[in-house]
Amino acid sequence: MAFDILLISLALIVLLVGLSRRWSAWRMGQKEDRSGDWLGLFGYLLGHKSILRDWKPGITHLMVFWGFAVPLLIIIVAHLGFTIPLVSARILSLLTDILGIALLAGTLFFATRRVRSTDPMAPKRTVLPLILLLIILISGFLAEGARLSIVHPQFSWESPLGWLLSIGLPPSPILMQLMIRAHFLAVLFFIAALPFTFTRHLASAPLNIFYRRKSPHGELQGVSFDEGPIGANTVRDFTWKQLLDAEACVSCGRCDENCPAYISGKPLSPRKVMQDILEQMETTPRYSGAMPDPSIPPLNSRITGDEIWACTTCMACVEKCPVFIEPMDKIIDMRRHQVMGKGLLPVEARAVIRNLEIYGDVHGKGMAHRGDWAFKRGVLPINSKGLDPEFLLWVGCSGAFHSRYQEVSRAMVDILKAAGIRFGILGKDELCCGDPARRLGEEDLFLDLARKNIHQLNMYGVKRIVTLCPHCFNTLKNEYPRIGGDPRWGTTGGIEVVHAAEYVMNLIEAGRIFPKYPINGRIAIHDPCYLGRVNHVYEPPRKIISSLPEVQFKELQRHHENAFCCGGGGGRMWLHENLGRRINSMRAEEVLGAGVDLLATACPYCMTMLDDGIKALEVEKPPKVLDIIEIVASSIG
Ligand code: SF4
Ligand code: SF4
Repeated sequence: MAFDILLISLALIVLLVGLSRRWSAWRMGQKEDRSGDWLGLFGYLLGHKSILRDWKPGITHLMVFWGFAVPLLIIIVAHLGFTIPLVSARILSLLTDILGIALLAGTLFFATRRVRSTDPMAPKRTVLPLILLLIILISGFLAEGARLSIVHPQFSWESPLGWLLSIGLPPSPILMQLMIRAHFLAVLFFIAALPFTFTRHLASAPLNIFYRRKSPHGELQGVSFDEGPIGANTVRDFTWKQLLDAEACVSCGRCDENCPAYISGKPLSPRKVMQDILEQMETTPRYSGAMPDPSIPPLNSRITGDEIWACTTCMACVEKCPVFIEPMDKIIDMRRHQVMGKGLLPVEARAVIRNLEIYGDVHGKGMAHRGDWAFKRGVLPINSKGLDPEFLLWVGCSGAFHSRYQEVSRAMVDILKAAGIRFGILGKDELCCGDPARRLGEEDLFLDLARKNIHQLNMYGVKRIVTLCPHCFNTLKNEYPRIGGDPRWGTTGGIEVVHAAEYVMNLIEAGRIFPKYPINGRIAIHDPCYLGRVNHVYEPPRKIISSLPEVQFKELQRHHENAFCCGGGGGRMWLHENLGRRINSMRAEEVLGAGVDLLATACPYCMTMLDDGIKALEVEKPPKVLDIIEIVASSIG
């Protein structure tokens, strides 16, 4: 007994030392305010919702989780000396047996998958815990079988597997004792090895879920310009939560499976990014005082420029990660360091940044011309006398200057006039919302643009904004309200921001406009990342299409949260795509495969990228790419 207590104490000491080492590794990160969410954590553990999206490993994980958690709980409660009625005890025994069988089946599934896997980035350090789990389970069942063959050779419904095994086992007390010892020692090994093997995710994944982001999905965190390097140069420049993300990564690869950069053969793998950060974290001294510390290797010794500039910020990796890890924000922080810390902005992006700095728009046309598109439509500035606008139409750089997307702006005006809506624009007082600057790593330029826009919005007393561009929509809705700084600018916290597709859908539903002319041909929808995955607006474009007369709608193979990116987000619109396949061509092929005549989208980047992608395929009758707003405008006539 005393020897057993010594062994248990040893296992617990090793466990605690290991956990504290891992704790200090991710706690070396910078400060970040995060509050925990018990309710969210329990809800997640109960249902495994995001793990179950991939149903086969999801169900198996559920079996392993419950097969592990419930018997453990029962054993702990039993050791606390509670007495319960015999029938309840037998029912609990049956439950433990069934869950033990589920755990055994799940462990065998994962062990087989691990042995068969040829993936070089498959989860590491999994073999020892899997072997230990198998020993724990098999020895446990054999001990129960040996016990039953000694004390209760008749059928025992509360231990079905133990009874089955007891048929073939001799009634040997020595065998029973041997199995109990093997079970006990394997449990101790399992506990002691937990922080050093893959099973550490039993602690880090729930912790990461507990501290998961509560702020809007599409909001990038700001940068501190006051202390330390700008952006992330080494792992120590990430916040503790960003390092906890790396600690919780189980290398399952779901992010890679959905990453357009990875799928199209570019050097970026969000899983590798997380694993590289984890490996650097493990080798970085925790408490060296110097900042920056030259002994810490820079992140770009592992994660190259080609990797970080391949990201389209489509958020597929964030959306698909079963434990709420966000690889994208690490990539943006590395971009920030490259751009603001080292001045290494890719050469192709320099023109757009210069345009933003000098003219305040990505096309370099200048603020004075920002309202030119609306001359013949009689669109009034928001502050026109007697206008009393219901909202501000935020036009965006593409809607104001891109000749093709100006048609969409005009179509929107036609719809609003048909519905008798009073609205205004900022015209020359509107600047780029700053999304391209922020996602290209130029945070100070973003803040400059954002603060000037916020000033205008407050000056004109804007309470509601409708915008055509999902990137403007995301920035105005999710990022502007949290931009602090100079109190003269104020914030946009109280302003409601709506995407045009949603607004027009409401007009149709309220009977203020009537789509009556049929749209000939079959239509598919391309979900823009910043409308769908980032802001979860999926239904308005579909509802609009279903309201059109005689419509033939077809979903693309990848839609809603699985939609494939157009390749233009995250500043990629202005960067060369000379590695791997072109993302827009891959999506264009999918559109052609759907055999549709029209592709509806709701984003200026998607329209340009997909139009180019489809044209480049040089097919005889290419599908036409239209914005959903143009489709409505032509249907109402
Ligand atoms: S980041 Fe998430 S999805 Fe990607 S490998 Fe890690 S755990 Fe899996
Ligand atoms: S945001 Fe999109 S492109 Fe960037 S790493 Fe994630 S999945 Fe890949």
